[in-house]
Amino acid sequence: MRNFGLSDLVLVAPYCFTTDLEARRMATHGLSVLDSARVVPDLGDALADCVYSFATSALTAGVVRGGTIGTAAEQMPELFAAASAGPVALVFGPEPHGLSNEEIGRCHGLVHVPVDPEFSSLNLAQAVAICCYELRRAWSKTVNEARGKPELPVRVVAPFAEQERMFEHLREALTAVGYLFGDKADSLMHGLRHLIGRAQPTQQEVKILHGLARQVLWAAGQMKGKDAPPVPES
Ligand code: SAH
Repeated sequence: MRNFGLSDLVLVAPYCFTTDLEARRMATHGLSVLDSARVVPDLGDALADCVYSFATSALTAGVVRGGTIGTAAEQMPELFAAASAGPVALVFGPEPHGLSNEEIGRCHGLVHVPVDPEFSSLNLAQAVAICCYELRRAWSKTVNEARGKPELPVRVVAPFAEQERMFEHLREALTAVGYLFGDKADSLMHGLRHLIGRAQPTQQEVKILHGLARQVLWAAGQMKGKDAPPVPES
């Protein structure tokens, strides 16, 4: 519960008390939750102030359990939404036998974590963790939506004419270093245009490619009179 930011633990007619040494040892960093737990004799007392509640069970057969049933991921957004009107509850049963039909019937719906039907009974702590995790997910989704997602900067693709000038510059540069030559030049340039065009370059990126072309042209000028550039393999 502490991991998921929950603190209001209510124990209904518990087998042992919050002072129990084993309970305290197992609580480790969750001791604050255990220390503030309320102990009540009946489920009705635990749910008294709640506006909405979900029971949890490994078993789904029967009319009572088959009512408003869903997975933790499906039910937790509903439980979280109901919390705007008042306290809500998730009800878990004891390890040996779980919740009775009568106890489940007192809740508004049932959460069933779908696992292997051959062995559907989770360890209580794991069932609690899965439900609390989904509840927190529902909470954080709402919080994030309320904050408004950070707006992605709009990507403005360089207009066609600007891209054309850049391709011309590149063609000139790549010809100067001997990369484009002969009858393959056009198809190679076509391939390059497609490759770069698919990336939908922005004006800034078009400038980078102009810079590249300028530098290649400068290097080609430096090479003039020296060894001819190597002829690429076909
Ligand atoms: N046969 C019992 C198992 C008890 S396990 C039963 O009817 O559920 C202890 C508690 O863990 C259950 O009462 C329930 O709250 C929770 N639990 C165990 N497996 C679960 C599952 N697959 N889905 C939802 N809750 C589960």
